[in-house]
Amino acid sequence: VPVKTFYLTTAIDYVNSLPHIGTAYEKIGADALARFMRMEGCDVHFQMGNDEHSTNVQKAAIAKGMEPKAYCDDMRKHFTEIWKKLNISYDDFIQTSEPRHHQASQKLFEAIHAAGDIYEGEYEGWYCESCEAFYTEKDLQDGLCPNHKQKPKWLKEKNYFLKLSRFREPLLDHISKHPEFILPEIRRNEIVSLLKQGLEDISVSRAGVRWGIPVPHDPTHVIYVWFDALINYLTAIGYASDEARFKKWWPASVHVIGKDITRFHCVIWPAMLMSAGLPLPKTVFGHGFVYLKGEKMSKTLGNVVTPMDIIDQFDSDVLRYYLLRGSSFGADGNFTWDDFITRYNSDLANDLGNLLSRTLGMAKKYFEGHVQTGEPADVDQTLIVKAQETEKKIREALDYLRGDLEFHYALGAIWELIATCDKYVDSSAPWTLKKNNQIERLNQVLYNLVNGLRLIGMWLIPFMPKTSEKIYSQLNLPLPKNFQEASSWEAMPKSHQLGEAFPLFPRIELKNEEK
Ligand SMILES: [Zn+2]
Repeated sequence: VPVKTFYLTTAIDYVNSLPHIGTAYEKIGADALARFMRMEGCDVHFQMGNDEHSTNVQKAAIAKGMEPKAYCDDMRKHFTEIWKKLNISYDDFIQTSEPRHHQASQKLFEAIHAAGDIYEGEYEGWYCESCEAFYTEKDLQDGLCPNHKQKPKWLKEKNYFLKLSRFREPLLDHISKHPEFILPEIRRNEIVSLLKQGLEDISVSRAGVRWGIPVPHDPTHVIYVWFDALINYLTAIGYASDEARFKKWWPASVHVIGKDITRFHCVIWPAMLMSAGLPLPKTVFGHGFVYLKGEKMSKTLGNVVTPMDIIDQFDSDVLRYYLLRGSSFGADGNFTWDDFITRYNSDLANDLGNLLSRTLGMAKKYFEGHVQTGEPADVDQTLIVKAQETEKKIREALDYLRGDLEFHYALGAIWELIATCDKYVDSSAPWTLKKNNQIERLNQVLYNLVNGLRLIGMWLIPFMPKTSEKIYSQLNLPLPKNFQEASSWEAMPKSHQLGEAFPLFPRIELKNEEK
């Protein structure tokens, strides 16, 4: 069976400000999907990067007395440091100011030009410099940019235009034949209704701007920053430089993007590709936003001021868990500190942490940390059946072609398995077995609990990779390389010596006045 390739990208980020919780949410969600697909045995290429040819980047560089390129290279360090802390497992990180990107962007611009879809014209209209976007009168709200609530600039300049209007029918046709092209459905409906209203040609160059990629046949212009940014998805996998590599990865399996930039990814981007005769990405997934609710932060959390500080004060897995547990990736979610602390203490410290320390504690007390099969009983089936259900639910949850990425449902399924293990401890009462000298049965009970923890640790790999490592280290088992080799109940050795126990998630103790 040939290995399935899976090419996943996130949006590339403007570098004039550092990542915040919303940017982090996108990368964490994409990373969970990338890790999941790797564990499913796919050959995954996960790409991220920075979007650098913005006038705002140039301004920020000038304000710091730096050349834009040097500023961008410096910002890359800050970004990748944060992604490293969040344990984002990207395979390539592209900067749009790199030569490989310039070359590929010019090639695609030329291909579209050669196809007759780029023409010279006069642009006159609104332009928001913060969005780097052109707006029609009807896009504005009370004459202001809908995102920035500031008055856009009136631009009048010679520009190159993309014949976007020509692609209205082909795009509607593609979407109706490939509903999975835009997910979730709510995003698809928005784009379809936009297309039905008609499309206008758009300006794809800026005159007299120095920071950017020159238009190949007219270097007095640079390619419009959004047009160039989208091309990063082709650039880094060898378009214009490595034909074989490009063929291996294109078309992308999924572009993960924020719901605010679907118009660029689901209208302009596919039109550019259609014009150049390239296949379209299979899916554009527009995730929801995380809204920070409630202004007051718990004093007990030390130096934590913004949600991003969680990754310094706690493990990055804590933030990953909290964000992914809240809602499906396609829907909006909330971040509140009260909820964060409750989730941490109840789900991580109590449920997961206690199950591990309790199980290892009993194994150590009764058998010096050695577990082996013993005498089975009917009640064991509850655990085995639940473990099978968990696997099924996680696969469903991550199957985005069903409409959404339901990380919260996958984690919910893992926590159901944790709860089933807890009930199993109570109903099996190992302490009574010990008292009654039912050693064979006690062996089997502890073996089953360790086996449950082994599977819990494995299913957590996409979501909380560091926690999985810690669990496996305490269980003294090698971390599975893929789900298939380890997902069956029988994959556990029949006799096994456990490792040393240590607390996974120490409780956050609330001061009295905060309770
Ligand atoms: Zn704006």
